[in-house]
Amino acid sequence: MKRCKDYAAHYPKWNDWKWQVANRITTADGIAGFLGMTEAEKNDVGQCLSAFRMAITPYYASLIDPNDPDDPIRKVCVPSIQETYPCENDMADPLGEVSDSPVPHIVHRYPDRVLFLITLRCSTYCRYCTRRRVVGEEDRIITEPELKTALWYIRSHPEIRDVLISGGDPLVMSTEKLEHILSELRAIPHVDIIRIGTRVPVVLPMRITEELLAMLKKYQPIWINTHFAHPQEITPASGRACAAIVDAGIPLGNQTVLLRGINDRAEILKELFLKLVHLRVRPYYLYQCDLSQGIGHFRTTVDEGIEIMHALTGNISGYAVPKFVIDAPGGGGKVPINYNYVLSKDNREVVMENFRGEIYRYPQPAVRQNRADNPPTE
Ligand code: SF4
Repeated sequence: MKRCKDYAAHYPKWNDWKWQVANRITTADGIAGFLGMTEAEKNDVGQCLSAFRMAITPYYASLIDPNDPDDPIRKVCVPSIQETYPCENDMADPLGEVSDSPVPHIVHRYPDRVLFLITLRCSTYCRYCTRRRVVGEEDRIITEPELKTALWYIRSHPEIRDVLISGGDPLVMSTEKLEHILSELRAIPHVDIIRIGTRVPVVLPMRITEELLAMLKKYQPIWINTHFAHPQEITPASGRACAAIVDAGIPLGNQTVLLRGINDRAEILKELFLKLVHLRVRPYYLYQCDLSQGIGHFRTTVDEGIEIMHALTGNISGYAVPKFVIDAPGGGGKVPINYNYVLSKDNREVVMENFRGEIYRYPQPAVRQNRADNPPTE
């Protein structure tokens, strides 16, 4: 792909999502030519590609400022030589998904919900992907026999009321195949909520078509969680995609990974979260970066995350402040991490600090004296 001022005018099929997927940038030569890289930079990319795959939609690549080596979108999608440096705590499966997988493609960790990984394919591969051990290894979706086994598992566990469909990116599948899976899930009486995790509104917004939304609406209640990492990803096209999803009656949330050198400053995340709320997208989680292989250079300290959350909390609307969590390595699940606002607590009072650092006291009720089974004595 060549750089130009008006891509839609230059490439007649620019707004066709299948054209975008078919024309992804996947080689060192392709990205070097597009960004005007030096030979050394191109060789670095080539070296990374021997370990981890690259794919970038033309749309997402067009958001990169080629004159800025620190461009955040470039860092999100273009391999860096740092991916080849081993880090002490790297893990192939940092979230312990393999050990919580009773049948292929299902991760059953929490009591009432499962993660259902229906594809290994994404339109654009994020360099910090936690599931990079499998995602992008092969461009393949779940096979029919694998689907039957996964559905059998969900059917035979009546405690499962919430299925999170992820991958890979489920919305890169054909509408027909996705509908097949959704209709099978919706036919299971105890499945109440179906959630879809997708980065399509960010990297392939033209995929949010009327045809797709009309199909999704048949299988409500559906929730979608997307994945904006930086305010530069909010464009007229991604804004339209989010608006179309919400207008279709599908609640839209967002999860962001805290990434060194990309979004690790309170003012960047404040801008991102406020813009998302403006788009009617609820910031849901801010994740501490996981321990996947080759992504150690993206990790911040946990204290940096706590400081950012402290800077945001109380200073912007609560709707714009996500939960900061660590997905505990080894499969411990998500653990909320907070600034410690409670300075002391006993039966009489709670002493706490507010968002301005001022100290307040909250008197505790005399709980035991008011309980019906323990009436007050004269
Ligand atoms: S879209 Fe999600 S699954 Fe795909 S590469 Fe990015 S983080 Fe990984």
